[in-house]
Amino acid sequence: MKNESAIIVGAGLVGSLWAVFLARRGYTVKVFERRSDMRAAGYTGGKSINLAMSERGWKAIEQAGIRDKIEKVAIPMPGRMMHNIAGELTFQPYGKEGEAIYSVSRGGLNLELLNIADSFPNVEFFFDHRCVEVDLNNPVITFEDMKTGEVKSLESPLIFAADGAFSAVRHTLQRTDRFNYRQFYLDHGYKELTIPPFENGSHRMHPGALHIWPRGNHMVIALPNADGSFTCTLFLPFEGEVSFEKLKNDADVLAFFQKYYADAVPLMPTLLRDFWANPTASLVTVNCAPWQWQGRILLLGDAAHAIVPFYGQGMNAGFEDCTILDAMLDEMGGDWSKTIPEFAKSRVKDGNAIAELAQRNFVEMRDLVSDPKFLLRKKIAADLHAKFPQEFLPVYSMVTFSNTPYHIALQEDDAQNELFREILNLEQVESAWNGTAVEQVFRHWLSRKTK
Ligand SMILES: Cc1cc2nc3c(=O)[nH]c(=O)nc-3n(C[C@H](O)[C@H](O)[C@H](O)COP(=O)(O)OP(=O)(O)OC[C@H]3O[C@@H](n4cnc5c(N)ncnc54)[C@H](O)[C@@H]3O)c2cc1C
Repeated sequence: MKNESAIIVGAGLVGSLWAVFLARRGYTVKVFERRSDMRAAGYTGGKSINLAMSERGWKAIEQAGIRDKIEKVAIPMPGRMMHNIAGELTFQPYGKEGEAIYSVSRGGLNLELLNIADSFPNVEFFFDHRCVEVDLNNPVITFEDMKTGEVKSLESPLIFAADGAFSAVRHTLQRTDRFNYRQFYLDHGYKELTIPPFENGSHRMHPGALHIWPRGNHMVIALPNADGSFTCTLFLPFEGEVSFEKLKNDADVLAFFQKYYADAVPLMPTLLRDFWANPTASLVTVNCAPWQWQGRILLLGDAAHAIVPFYGQGMNAGFEDCTILDAMLDEMGGDWSKTIPEFAKSRVKDGNAIAELAQRNFVEMRDLVSDPKFLLRKKIAADLHAKFPQEFLPVYSMVTFSNTPYHIALQEDDAQNELFREILNLEQVESAWNGTAVEQVFRHWLSRKTK
């Protein structure tokens, strides 16, 4: 066991995973979490809020040693199933044959991470403990015991803040000189709804897809759960012509769903109950820098880079923070005072890039996925990738199925947008989508890019 210790604030997805990484290195780790222990609260892993896990997440989960366990309950989604307004379905693969994103239970994953972290003798959890303040001049952090009201201050040479989008630790850093901070809310909110299983436990829709009902300024998505249900999310503006504020009673809600999501209504017997019981939540993006303080306090996960959920990358990005930071510590010979500033400096551009990509993907999901030009673009992109696998990888694949740094993926997104502007302007591209003219434009673009 090392004679070194660290405090982690937050036992959410990233904090619990990071506890495992540090525990494996032999650190004495104390994890403080505002909420009660989800295990004591009787969480069984069956309930249904889910997340899309992709390559970056799997890589970290593998290093934590629980890939097998999570894989068993993860549902592969090799593509999107588009529901148009007439209820017709179209399937679009996300990547190549064999590539998929995976629907995993948020609670189930958090539970496994807590269990594995807790199995190390050098990790201790303190639930119902809220971080209230960090003394930046001294290595002291203060928590309030939510059950007794007692306030405790602890010394720690190393503090990792994985306390989410509204991080208390970041709040302290925000008050320091030259700390940059930007918080941006979408005009849209979201509400979770459910499609329960059939009585025999089977799914009411094809479980091998992420279902999307794109409707321009609003949409519903649905991810399958292992218990046969789907967790659906309605994304809708808070205000305006078609918005949450206009849905005031049962009749409004039913009329709205019948008009825009008619094929989903018979699948949602608890629609009205869910609609009124579940909160309308907001969607925030946070960019900030520096993510660290004097090589001994570091923000991780949503505390450093909260993003909108439209690329399914928030947790994946937070998990990737852990794998990158862990590898960097080895490169820096185990010296945190060098590793933390270097990580914060080099990783921030990736945090900003995935935030930008996630916002762009919102437009793609709600507007473009049903647009013929967009579908043509996807078809051409797949064809170019098949013909030039080394030279051309669609950005979605780069983000989702590779570990390429997000800032490179963002640069590639800009470059590919330019390429497709040219390709889609070609005459009769609809019929000649895999012809020589497209190839010529591509080769020309490639030569400009590689210059
Ligand atoms: C609707 C929606 C859908 C999403 N879908 C996906 C997806 O498909 N794929 C994906 O990769 N990501 C997705 N995300 C993003 C993902 O949920 C987050 O990126 C991820 O949860 C971040 O993990 P975290 O541990 O950094 O923060 P959190 O999960 O927010 O955990 C922070 C923890 O810190 C605790 N805490 C907070 N304040 C304090 C305090 N003062 N003291 C002590 N503890 C504190 C909290 O109780 C919590 O347990 C989605 C997000 C939303 C909103």
